[in-house]
Amino acid sequence: MGTHAGGPDDSGRRAGLTEEPPSRLVGGAASPGLLVGRALLFERRRVNVPKRHVEDSEVETEVARLRGAIDAARAQLRAIRATLPEDSQDHSLILEAHLLMLDDALLVDDTEDVIRVEKINAEWGLRRTVEKIKALFERAEDDYFRERRSDVDFVGERVLRQLMGHSQELPKAHDDGQPTILVAHELSPADIASLPGKGVAGFVTDVGSTTSHTAILARAMQLVAVVGAQTATKFIATGDLLVLDGLKGVVVLRPGAADLLAADRRKKRYALFVKSLDAQRDRIAAMKCGTPVALRANIELPPEAQIAVDHGADGVGLYRTEFLYIDRRSPPPEEEQFEVYRGIVKTVSPRIVTLRTFDIGGDKFSTAFRLPREMNPALGLRAVRLALQEREVFRTQLRAMLRAAMEGPVRIMVPMIATLSELREVKTELALARQELAERNIHVNDVPLGVMIETPSAVFMADQLARESAFFSIGTNDLVQYSLAIDRGNEHVAFMARPFDPAILRAISMTVRAAHAAGIPCSLCGTMASDLLAAPLLVGLGLRELSVDPHAIASVKAALSRITLREAEALAVEVLDCDTAETVKTRVEAQFAGSMRDLLEPAE
Ligand code: PEP
Ligand code: MG
Repeated sequence: MGTHAGGPDDSGRRAGLTEEPPSRLVGGAASPGLLVGRALLFERRRVNVPKRHVEDSEVETEVARLRGAIDAARAQLRAIRATLPEDSQDHSLILEAHLLMLDDALLVDDTEDVIRVEKINAEWGLRRTVEKIKALFERAEDDYFRERRSDVDFVGERVLRQLMGHSQELPKAHDDGQPTILVAHELSPADIASLPGKGVAGFVTDVGSTTSHTAILARAMQLVAVVGAQTATKFIATGDLLVLDGLKGVVVLRPGAADLLAADRRKKRYALFVKSLDAQRDRIAAMKCGTPVALRANIELPPEAQIAVDHGADGVGLYRTEFLYIDRRSPPPEEEQFEVYRGIVKTVSPRIVTLRTFDIGGDKFSTAFRLPREMNPALGLRAVRLALQEREVFRTQLRAMLRAAMEGPVRIMVPMIATLSELREVKTELALARQELAERNIHVNDVPLGVMIETPSAVFMADQLARESAFFSIGTNDLVQYSLAIDRGNEHVAFMARPFDPAILRAISMTVRAAHAAGIPCSLCGTMASDLLAAPLLVGLGLRELSVDPHAIASVKAALSRITLREAEALAVEVLDCDTAETVKTRVEAQFAGSMRDLLEPAE
């Protein structure tokens, strides 16, 4: 799971049984497209616990139900343990610990006692015991014991699901010919990565924002997605017919004939719009006045390299290599990585490929590393910090990248640089990686090493970083998160995560000026560059390279072609002096929206 533990609280969900369900839910438009399909509820962590008092005569039945559920959970854990490969000791130990918990008097006897004394149903009794045990761990002085709270939770939830007949795994898609829409409280990037082949066409989550890695991956995999809909799991049941509008971020619940007709029309118009953009494919990206802009693609999965080329991308501005590391037990070996990178380079050559070293941690959890459980993972052992801690793993990746660079134009980019020392240490590792290759008689060329500017400290130090970097790429997703102190996965503050905030625009401007002064190229690869109103403004701020979702290339190209550089520059000067994100947005809309209505509302 990602960083947001826990689900909707029980009281809210119970209220949901009597509350009138809304006809639509509004969330973040995380991945475009329109779907009419059947809901498939996926509840894994917190389950809605039915709480009821029972008659004297029912007490022993409840105790028997509890024992049955514990037996079933035990069998399930043993079955999972049996499927683990020999070398996965750690996972097997965790399962062992969970199995032991199922025999623990603290859990079993206490729950039975509470059922008998309080005369309550098994689910309620179990939840109460679990909370009590967690509170005991909470008070523990030792960090290790405090962290066992989540194990108690996992075991408790597993038994609860047995009691309530809920499944633990991603369920199978409907096979009635209708698209399946997964409805979950939260989905991690690893969950999304495991969806291919499961027949799921889209999803809606209660939590999350459109710049989370879950959303980014959904776009890469062309799943229609709405995130942060807050009450989706409360009001939607498996089998419900839904209209999932990934363009507007709306979910229509149990749509009527008029809703279905409207969805069908929008879907057709959107398909026509996507088709009409095909004409942009072979055009060079440029402003209306002819000023060229290198428009590259952000990719997450190797097959997207071809999609990027097909959409007319001028290279890959960001390959998020970390997706090679999730959902596996050990980091990918050099040879495997080399083959993947080489494949991408060959597909994209003679255009450039920007390989970013792994950005794991934060909301990108990987089973290939022993990541510590952190209170604030986004501020913890993430990206280059993890790389410099796991140097062997890091150099394995660098060696694979250096080798791939012999196959076509490549540059290497480091995420989340906060200090010059980190950059220097990366350089040392890169030199060592070359040396290790030389020792194997593999001689490689120098490869440009650049940094992502996505922490406030990197912005402040941009002049000095520019002297030691071959290029910059501004990561506005994180720059917004770290500058405005807004967790990028948190739907409660997602409304404040505005790249149009003057603070962000000033940070971009400072970075671009530092890059220009040092004579190095500067790109921007955050989601902001895919925003049609933002793209020309970024050019006005001095950027001449943007990297966007492959599917956004054509529309960004079209948007840029409607605005002159002069117009964009004049607006950039003006907005750098604005007071709030709202003022900036209003100004930008007033200036640009008129000439790109068709692009901004593609299904209207
Ligand atoms: C960013 O932070 O803007 C970025 C492009 O990197 P990621 O989204 O992978 O963190
Ligand atoms: Mg980032």
